[in-house]
Amino acid sequence: DAWDFAVELRSDPATAEARAAALAKPGFGQVFTDHMVVAPWTAERGWHDARVTAYAPLKVSPAAAVLHYSQEIFEGLKAYRHADGSVWSFRPERNAARFTKSAERLALPQLPEEEFVSALRALVTVDEPWVPSADSGETSLYLRPYLIATEAALSVRPAREVLFGVIASPAGPYFATGPKPVSIWLTTSTVRATPGGTGAAKCGGNYAASLAGLAEAVANGCDQVAFVDAVEHKWLEEIGSMNLFFVYADGRIATPELSGSILEGVTRASVIELAADLGHTVEERRVSADEWKDGVRSGEITEVFASGTAAVITPIGRLAWPDGDLTIGDHSVDHGVGPVTKSIRSTLLDLQYGRIPDSRSWLT
Ligand code: PMP
Repeated sequence: DAWDFAVELRSDPATAEARAAALAKPGFGQVFTDHMVVAPWTAERGWHDARVTAYAPLKVSPAAAVLHYSQEIFEGLKAYRHADGSVWSFRPERNAARFTKSAERLALPQLPEEEFVSALRALVTVDEPWVPSADSGETSLYLRPYLIATEAALSVRPAREVLFGVIASPAGPYFATGPKPVSIWLTTSTVRATPGGTGAAKCGGNYAASLAGLAEAVANGCDQVAFVDAVEHKWLEEIGSMNLFFVYADGRIATPELSGSILEGVTRASVIELAADLGHTVEERRVSADEWKDGVRSGEITEVFASGTAAVITPIGRLAWPDGDLTIGDHSVDHGVGPVTKSIRSTLLDLQYGRIPDSRSWLT
């Protein structure tokens, strides 16, 4: 049932020089490829007119429901070029399934999961020259599918007109000179998500709700913010856009369990399986902020890292909060990147870039 994507190629695609310049630009997600996918849906017609067309601003009414009531979801994944020139995505069916769950939570229409993947394929096929070459380090083409309520109607109800789209942005290496530990501000003044709320969905509102916490982190000299649960203000949830992992001196690894208010990361799920392969016992359970602090102080917790598509695995080297500050790990060795963090990170990257066999068929 794969949709027939009409392809409207632009007449003025970027030159190879312009693509190289775009990749060299610092910052994430600021330059986009030549094309995009769009597929409208209406309650009357269902999905129709799916096409790949020139990347351009959308025309939406100022009364579009997405602009007022945030009826919106999105996804994020990457296309990687292997040494033989072929282009692969990593577990896209998981992003498709998460998109379905997010759509359900936001009362948006369901996109068939095979069409989610065929939309990615359609765009990457047309914009394949934008997937950076295998010899340019940890580079990729970041893919951003989204679904927005475009109906011009100010009454509060599920929209009867929506738009599915995919855009793509070339991504340079997140850590240009190898992974570097980041600092985390532990906030208790705001929460990101609540029980029964939308925390487990990938919807824009969650990110808007996280920004005051991020601003507080930056004002306190930290790179990122970690949130605790909304009820007891005690249990660790996640970072603004990454899941958390704790490595113990005895080789155990713990990650906050899926509480209903954290996002189930594709990287998180993959780390859980790969860490077990590497001989670790992985616990999905509640982890308190006190366990993090006490564990680092006592030496029981030896490494902390965060997982997510953008940076794969990000080492965490410092934790700060209103009346405390802790250094995590030995910063005199390997720039403070612990051995477990390092081996999980390189295993994942080797898989994504096709340097080790894909024994679980995670690549499409
Ligand atoms: N938590 C949040 C809130 C996120 O936005 C992301 C990024 N999608 C993640 C965790 C990590 O998810 P993934 O590994 O699928 O990128």
